[in-house]
Amino acid sequence: MLIVMKHDASAEEVTRVVDVIEEMGYEARPMPGKQRTAIGLVGNDGKVNADRLESLPGVLEIIHVSQPYKQVSREWREEPTIVQLANGTRIGGGEVVVMAGPCSVESEAQIVGIAHSLREAGATILRGGAFKPRTSPYAFQGMGEPGLKLLAKAREETGMAVVTEALDEESLARVAEYADIIQIGARNMQNFSLLRRAGRTGKPILLKRGMAATVKDLLLSAEYVLAEGNGQVILCERGVRGFDTHTRNLLDLTAIPVVKSLSHLPIIADPSHGTGLRAKVIPMARAAVAAGADGLMIEVHPDPERAMSDGAQSLYPEQFEELMQQIAVIAEAIGREMQPSLTGRPVRAVV
Ligand code: PEP
Ligand code: MN
Repeated sequence: MLIVMKHDASAEEVTRVVDVIEEMGYEARPMPGKQRTAIGLVGNDGKVNADRLESLPGVLEIIHVSQPYKQVSREWREEPTIVQLANGTRIGGGEVVVMAGPCSVESEAQIVGIAHSLREAGATILRGGAFKPRTSPYAFQGMGEPGLKLLAKAREETGMAVVTEALDEESLARVAEYADIIQIGARNMQNFSLLRRAGRTGKPILLKRGMAATVKDLLLSAEYVLAEGNGQVILCERGVRGFDTHTRNLLDLTAIPVVKSLSHLPIIADPSHGTGLRAKVIPMARAAVAAGADGLMIEVHPDPERAMSDGAQSLYPEQFEELMQQIAVIAEAIGREMQPSLTGRPVRAVV
């Protein structure tokens, strides 16, 4: 439930509404907006006395949020959520943000080296898994904490922000210590206890869509994070299971405009896991930007043939540079811009 205040409501009137909500045994979340303040009532058990709130001074109207997800909905908050990182990157503010890097952190030379070339190409966020969710228990499971330390080293050298996955509650605390954004992978999208704990870290969360999850499932999972008081959530479309074996997954680009209409949260696309094939990553990355994605997550490896995971879908650094040039043009064509690069040079080379 949302209590919308009149545009000229005083601070005392807002406080009064908050006090009454708390008196009734619920949580109040005041959200000052450009035009007026709205106050979210959290924990509605269906027994809220709306008349009591409606009659308070300064209250314009009461909105019953009709969706099962409340705080992530557009009804709850009209303005887009912008996730702001320490290195100046803003996700959801209209600029196209690129997160790139290898599937897994493998060595210092690999991660620090690739970070430098990604930065040159215009990426502002470095990805790389230290804790890897692998289909086979015998496959490379990631470097663990030493991998996190290498990501921190790459950040120190390049100024890039770091996104990396927390696989379970055990790795979460360590990941939270090093990462700028905590990734919750597709396989964990409905690990609700992990979502709650990740929410409580207060760090931005990148939530990937499960491979058999509907958009509604994705939004309800995000709601778990917001319910912990953490609104810094970025959604990620990374492909769902399809029936055609020509690609690893079916990248559902429709989810981008659908999420945009239902939620204020930013949404990015991951065409690397979404297609599983290097040659398909570039066209789908272009399409995702054209569809209105707030950013991309792209796997890039200095030597994909020798990658310890996901080599077949990892771009060569030169391919990534070319892709950045192309998406800069697409972004401009739809009235958006690229997130300014950390080098101070425009992403789009002057032609
Ligand atoms: C990844 O980003 O490396 C990853 C494992 O992604 P997903 O959870 O989407 O499979
Ligand atoms: Mn991967």
